[in-house]
Amino acid sequence: MTEGLNIAIVGAGIGGLSAALALSARGMNVTVFEGAESPREAGAGLSIPPNALILLKRTSLCAEIEKITTRSQGLTRRTSQGEPISPGSPPVLSYQIHRVELLEMFLGVMKELVRFGHRCTAVEERTTGARLTFANGAVCDADVVIGADGIHSVVQRQIGLTARPTSEGIVAYRGLVQSQKLSWAAKLRGLNMWIGDGRSFICFPVSQGRLINIVAFVPSMRDMEETWFAPGDVETLSGEYGDWDAPVREIIAALEHTFRWGIYDRPPLPYWSKGCVTLLGDAAHPMVPHFGQGAGQAIEDGFALAVLLEHARRDEVPARLQAYQNLRLGRTRGVQTASRLAGRFYRSAAGNPLEQAERMREWMSAAAWIFPYDAEEAAAALR
Ligand SMILES: Cc1cc2nc3c(=O)[nH]c(=O)nc-3n(C[C@H](O)[C@H](O)[C@H](O)COP(=O)(O)OP(=O)(O)OC[C@H]3O[C@@H](n4cnc5c(N)ncnc54)[C@H](O)[C@@H]3O)c2cc1C
Repeated sequence: MTEGLNIAIVGAGIGGLSAALALSARGMNVTVFEGAESPREAGAGLSIPPNALILLKRTSLCAEIEKITTRSQGLTRRTSQGEPISPGSPPVLSYQIHRVELLEMFLGVMKELVRFGHRCTAVEERTTGARLTFANGAVCDADVVIGADGIHSVVQRQIGLTARPTSEGIVAYRGLVQSQKLSWAAKLRGLNMWIGDGRSFICFPVSQGRLINIVAFVPSMRDMEETWFAPGDVETLSGEYGDWDAPVREIIAALEHTFRWGIYDRPPLPYWSKGCVTLLGDAAHPMVPHFGQGAGQAIEDGFALAVLLEHARRDEVPARLQAYQNLRLGRTRGVQTASRLAGRFYRSAAGNPLEQAERMREWMSAAAWIFPYDAEEAAAALR
């Protein structure tokens, strides 16, 4: 019976915590092991697509999530000089959120499930279940181990996988600006993007409009660190957008800090599950960020896994984890490809605005299958 199933999740990011929420709501005993010593105030804005929001809204956090998300319809595109590129794409609803606020919301209801200061160093399969070892000397036995430990996953390597990153030749600058510092911020709605010269600049409001999140993609021949913590230089960023549309220059001038993040792509992994160990989120399907589905696919994974593990006996765990892998591999491969193509489109944005709009419309229409999807329903159909 599920009541006895002990689940260890490695990593308290969006993937690990949303899986913990879904698994514990279905009666499983969950412990989340996080390498950081305490919750980190790291990260800026990210998108939660409708295919993920639908799942979070079914939980006890429905009212909370409503409060912290900003809703936008479609994406307003402009050239680097501010000329509209429209209509461009079908007006898909999306939701923007401050990563720190989302993690705080999760921890508000699950703090007692999370063990900070537990950096996993090894996973060893046992006759039933697996044993986790941590850098602080602790060990833990579990019936199921879920590696939700991000792009540099230790659990991934422990089940015999190696991901080979390839640089996209671009660096992303991220940052947050207080809206009150910007003369035009009150007029800003939804997702806004400027494209030109192999660069793009995206901004959207988060934190109920108090902050504007920016992501600026710039070509770079230098290999950049793939980390969320590398500081960037505001002056260098400003030089990259020196002759762009006025709002782009104004927002960069208002930035106090920026972070620099090298963008790397990886091919899909051949498998995610081995015995009673599996992966989710970036550990399972790292993707380039151009389609705003990284967090969304991580959330889908956790909710699908919870449906498939509910009521499983211990001896059924390996088969349920295979079913989870089979369900999720195809879909996330498709999303990885869509994200890669979106990046290519933005980088090669040449031609006149009408041609750009037409290419963008074709590409968005081809990717529209991603949004109307219910991961819990898809998993339930396999039980
Ligand atoms: C600090 C940080 C800031 C980010 N900021 C942004 C952002 O501003 N915008 C954006 O679009 N995306 C951001 N992301 C990425 C985004 O959150 C993820 O791509 C997406 O949500 C998938 O999440 P995940 O849970 O699979 O992986 P992650 O969010 O990477 O979470 C993995 C977690 O596992 C922990 N961990 C790693 N190794 C171990 C180990 N050996 N033992 C125990 N714990 C371990 C990490 O500390 C982390 O908490 C950020 C990620 C991180 C870690």
